[in-house]
Formats: sequence, C-alpha cells, structure tokens
Amino acid sequence: MIVTRFAPSPSGRLHLGHAFSAAIGHAKARQAGGKFRLRIEDLDQTRCKPEFVAGITEDLRWLGLDWDEPVLVQSQRTAAYQEALDDLKARGLVFACFCTRANIAQSLTAPHGDAATSYPGTCRALPDDPERRATSPHSWRLNSGKALELTELPTWTEVGGKQFQARAIDIGDAILARKDAPASYHLSCVVDDAASGVTLVVRGADLRPSTPIQRLLQELLGLPQPTYLHHPLVTHEDGRRLAKRELAPTLAAMRESGVDGLELDADLLAGKLPLGFTFREG
Ligand code: GLU
Repeated sequence: MIVTRFAPSPSGRLHLGHAFSAAIGHAKARQAGGKFRLRIEDLDQTRCKPEFVAGITEDLRWLGLDWDEPVLVQSQRTAAYQEALDDLKARGLVFACFCTRANIAQSLTAPHGDAATSYPGTCRALPDDPERRATSPHSWRLNSGKALELTELPTWTEVGGKQFQARAIDIGDAILARKDAPASYHLSCVVDDAASGVTLVVRGADLRPSTPIQRLLQELLGLPQPTYLHHPLVTHEDGRRLAKRELAPTLAAMRESGVDGLELDADLLAGKLPLGFTFREG
C-alpha cells in the first residue's frame, strides 16, 4: 500500500508551495487507495506556534485534502528519537560536538536551499568527555566515516524508477541531536517516516540534498527504504523562492480574497499556477 505524508513546520502559514506538495502527496495516496499522513514538524520550539498548527489543518481542509489519523506531532515523539540515537551511540557511530550554537540551531529545520554538509571534523577525534558534556552545550553528530565502513554508499529510487547513488561528499557528519533538542530534522524525519509506514516521500526538490544522509540513517537504523518524489518548486515569476520571510501570499490570504480551494487543488495537480508564479526544477 502507498503511504505518503505532508510534513510542514508550524512556523508560519502555508503558502502555494506547501499546497502543491500536499496536493501531490494526497493525490498519489488516494489514487492508489493508500494513506495520506500529516506530520507536524515542531521540534524548533522557538519558531513553532500552536496557532500555526490550527492554520495547517484549516488550509488543508480548504484545499479539500483529508488525511489519515493519527497526526504525528514531533514534539511528542522524544522517546522514539532518543532510542534511535542511543542505538547509534551504542555502536560508536556518533560523537559529541562542541562547535558553535549558530550552526547547531540550523539543524532542527529542514535545510531548504543549499544544504550545509560541510563540517571540518573539529570534534570527531576528541576522546569522549562526559564531564565536559555535562557542563557544555553540545550536539551529537553522525560519524559518517565510521558509518560508511559499515554500509555502502546508499542508493535511492525516485518515482518512475530512476536510481540514484549518494556520493561520499553528499554525506557529512550531520547533526542528529543536541543537548536541548531530542533530534535534528534528519533523525526525526527518518524515525517518523518509518513509524508512519511511509512508502513514498513527496517533497520539494530543494530537499533532495537531504536524501543521501537520510537514506544512510535508514540503513544504519534498519528502517525500510521509501521511494522519493522530489517535485519542482513553486517560485515567484522572477525566480524568488516562496520563503515565508519573503512574504509569499499565504493560502489564508488567497482564501480571503475569494480563491476556491478545491479549484486551486485541481489546478495545481494539472500543473497550472496562479498568475505571477512559476515552477523551478530544484
Ligand atoms: N518540515 C519540512 C518543511 O517544512 C518538510 C520536510 C520533509 O518533507 O522531509 O519543508
């Protein structure tokens, strides 16, 4: 059975790009008699707000998209992430990293745009120091060198059957957790996709750089391998991304201005965008 998911972060209202992603994920599941899951990616508690969760469900309903229960809420899934991290720790596949907070903070949200996989390896060879860990903020990073001694460079398949193989340079010592956050985007994503039985990951092409590391984590944790559909991005006609900070019109604003949600969903599935927007491949 096909199981897809839509996994927004409640850090703002949804925009046209979210609607496109949700429309495809929903259609792929429903056309195959499968399931469409909703996951709230709210691990970054500094940016996520409960009113945006309500906004997400309101916007999906307006588009005519229904989802299969239960809705998975990441802030309630700490134990599952801890278990996965402990498993990797027990096998010596992670190390504590004491590098700056700025780059650690970024790890909680999905890295749209250029993924930062480069890490100079500063803390990789440090001996484990529980005392320092007890007193200094730190994150847990994957020791990708060790991981790749255990398993081959991962491959993945996109809808349509095309196979991809990760290159070593696509896989860095990714942050998996930090002292005050149970899991990074990559770790929570693979643990939750597996817990929800997701067989087809539908998301924007800007998240394609996340796939090699996520596939590696799946291999290391013995999790099933989904198929991927990285769809083109919706951008402004001049190429600007629909990032929230660039004030893309929200679905809520479109609804208020009289747009019909069901028609919008049908148009998006037909590849038709409202005036002023265009598709960009990755
Ligand atoms: N929460 C991510 C976002 O806001 C989605 C991550 C994913 O689909 O893997 O775009």
